[in-house]
Amino acid sequence: MANFGFLVLIYLSSHFIPYANLDAMMSFLIPSVIGTTAANYCMNIVYFDHFKTKNLLEMSMLQDPLTGLYNRNMIKNITEKSGNFFIPANIRNISCLMIDIDFFKNVNDTYGHSAGDSVILWVSEILKESVRQRDIIIRWGGEEFFILLYDCDLERSEEVAERIRKSVAVGENSICPITISAGVALHKGDKWEDTLRAADDALLKAKASGRNQVVVSRE
Ligand code: GH3
Ligand code: MG
Ligand code: MG
Repeated sequence: MANFGFLVLIYLSSHFIPYANLDAMMSFLIPSVIGTTAANYCMNIVYFDHFKTKNLLEMSMLQDPLTGLYNRNMIKNITEKSGNFFIPANIRNISCLMIDIDFFKNVNDTYGHSAGDSVILWVSEILKESVRQRDIIIRWGGEEFFILLYDCDLERSEEVAERIRKSVAVGENSICPITISAGVALHKGDKWEDTLRAADDALLKAKASGRNQVVVSRE
């Protein structure tokens, strides 16, 4: 654009300034302006394409293809090198939920693997609807989900987990009746893995006590 402006400026000013070699200037300037503008345009296209491809690749590295949720790679983006969660300045506390579909193997065995996939997708939609925009949902494994709740104390996190459990148990629009178990833990120390372990231990307790329930880690 600047090149074109320069060309127009010379042309307009030639009405007031009698350039001795205007024709020679123009015959040099016009092709060079067209050339540089075309090259610039092509480079922009290539750069934009590269930028788009890079973004798509980065997104697919973080995304679970079945549910569109994040996959485990996302942990790198929400934790610091020190081993702690990255905690934004305005956030007072964060909690973790570990959620697992109960007896999911039976779903595959009874209804088939593709129905099993649909059940995982259905649960993932409930999870999305049950947390806030800012919270992070990760498909941690096959039928297991890890959720990071920002600005959420233990009481409220238990409420969120309980809401998810009830929605799944009620089973509106579900392919087959299923339940989930959940473990809840408040992030207290400075290592994200400790909180994840606490939530996982609570989940195991929920499984051991009969499933379809939420257990809160009180350590
Ligand atoms: P529990 O209540 O103890 O969690 O029992 P479970 O049957 O849910 O747990 P188990 O670990 O025995 O089985 C999990 C099953 O989930 C086994 C595996 O084939 C299935 N699975 C894992 N990922 C997927 C998936 O992406 N799609 C489908 N359809 N099934 C999956
Ligand atoms: Mg399971
Ligand atoms: Mg599991």
